[in-house]
Amino acid sequence: MADLCTSTHHNFAEEKGNTMKIFQSCLWQTNSTLIEGREECFLFDPTYYPHEVERIKQALPDKPLNLIYTHADWDHIAGFSEFSFGHTLGHHQVKEQSDQLEKAGAFDLEWYVARNKELEFPRIDEEIMGETTKVVSDETLYFLPIPGHTSDMMATFFLERKVVVAGDVLSDLEFPFIFYSSQKYLESLEKMKEKVLEFGIHTLVPGHGRPVLDSQREILRRIEDDLDYLHQLKSGNQIACYRGEPIPAHLISQHEGNIKFVEME
Ligand SMILES: [Zn+2]
Repeated sequence: MADLCTSTHHNFAEEKGNTMKIFQSCLWQTNSTLIEGREECFLFDPTYYPHEVERIKQALPDKPLNLIYTHADWDHIAGFSEFSFGHTLGHHQVKEQSDQLEKAGAFDLEWYVARNKELEFPRIDEEIMGETTKVVSDETLYFLPIPGHTSDMMATFFLERKVVVAGDVLSDLEFPFIFYSSQKYLESLEKMKEKVLEFGIHTLVPGHGRPVLDSQREILRRIEDDLDYLHQLKSGNQIACYRGEPIPAHLISQHEGNIKFVEME
């Protein structure tokens, strides 16, 4: 069984002999995932505050680094300049999101966040154009574009480990936020469901909030909950429920944003 420990600023999950670590930012519980393979390591979305980024740096093993972006929303890209020596991978649409760098800069300015290295927008060395399988040493990675929240979202499956690092979908903290396409979001979740079943996935790291460790049933439940919400929205049900409950007060503006977005589509 995997372990999940919580400290003031981080939830910290380690599994399978210490080879997967999740660093959780105290900004929005944004997750940075480090997976150590036999010969290389894989780091997703290192972020956000300088002391959090530093802690991730200290945890890096002395192995070649693959830096993978789930998407380029500003809270996910703030650590790039500290890890730019790695080989970077991401959806080919990442480069279209370069305005996100200004948002990170504006946040840092407003909250007096001081960094040793200036923010930089991620350089993508290896662009993922569609479903792609890549073998790195004894790890088989399967990249699945999952547009919906944004156009550049991408999930990465580790087939031997039965793990998926999913990006901003399937969070326990929030229903789907639609900024790109509700129809594509639905299709992406259906595709996730298909692949979770096909590959026997049991561990999911979402972009924000608690990971699912060792429970395919819980992953499938999150998928069904989000599909259900999207179907309600698309059928014009403005008082949509989420997980059987009314939308909580702090998320009502996001829900209203979704309603407007779907009406405009
Ligand atoms: Zn996010």
